[in-house]
Amino acid sequence: MRYAVDIGGTKTALGVFSDDALELLDARVLPTPRASWEAFEAGVGEALETLAARHGPPTRLGVSVAGVVHPNTGVVRCTNVPAVHGQPLAQRLEARLGLPVRVANDADCFALAEARHGEGQGAGVMLGLILGTGVGGAVVVAGQLLPGRSGLSGEWGHGNQLQDRVAALGLRVRTCPCGLGTCLDLYGAGRGLGKVYTDVCELHFDAPPETTSAKAIVAAWRAGQAPAERAVALWLTLVAPAVASLVNVLDPQRVVVGGGMANDGALLQALDARVRELSLADHDRALVVPGRFINDGSLRGAASL
Ligand SMILES: [Zn+2]
Repeated sequence: MRYAVDIGGTKTALGVFSDDALELLDARVLPTPRASWEAFEAGVGEALETLAARHGPPTRLGVSVAGVVHPNTGVVRCTNVPAVHGQPLAQRLEARLGLPVRVANDADCFALAEARHGEGQGAGVMLGLILGTGVGGAVVVAGQLLPGRSGLSGEWGHGNQLQDRVAALGLRVRTCPCGLGTCLDLYGAGRGLGKVYTDVCELHFDAPPETTSAKAIVAAWRAGQAPAERAVALWLTLVAPAVASLVNVLDPQRVVVGGGMANDGALLQALDARVRELSLADHDRALVVPGRFINDGSLRGAASL
């Protein structure tokens, strides 16, 4: 029996999986205990005990976290969840639970689930992209996550220096909290599309935006609303070259997308078409596709760790 935990900024999911990590047998969701390590350890420990009483004790535990896991020290950087930020999470949970624990970044876990059991099965190289609130990603080679130096592989949304490009497109130039200037993360996922749409409405159409929700903007784009059409066109102009650059470096068989924006098939088809236009290789089938586990890929991937 494999147990998995997915630690997010607001909620934490726990799952019990079959030994091959394919079948989700039981799950629990609790508000992430954020205040202190002690509160986190107690909350998650109690939820695991409840599941173990039903399904038997776990033999191993995989943990997905919305942060960076240092490959040597195991220390987690996760400012969204102060309770685990700065903690060597695997070591501390192993000491508490007395079983092997492995911890990985949530985008890494999503990509692993897709490569092993989802839309990336059989791909020698699979690129996993997250288009959720922000931009993220991970690379899986021959079914294994790329073991990087600092746990930061797949972070294609930072260091892009987009200030001139953004200004030329008539959008506001913003500065990323990461300290690297005008990053794609500011424009590239759901939160970013909201900003692009706001700029388009205010600066191009001289009207306040009716929404900043990516879902509503994409729906308006599909309905042919002019500001939404321009916003999505600009969004594709910024995002597609960054994805194509990754495709030209890695030459993946599949680019599998997770996060909330992956739920819109038409948007992903438009992104796929632009990326294939900008790719050096010929692709005779869809390259950028929505994941099979958009909603629970991180939990599933954690079970595979
Ligand atoms: Zn940045």
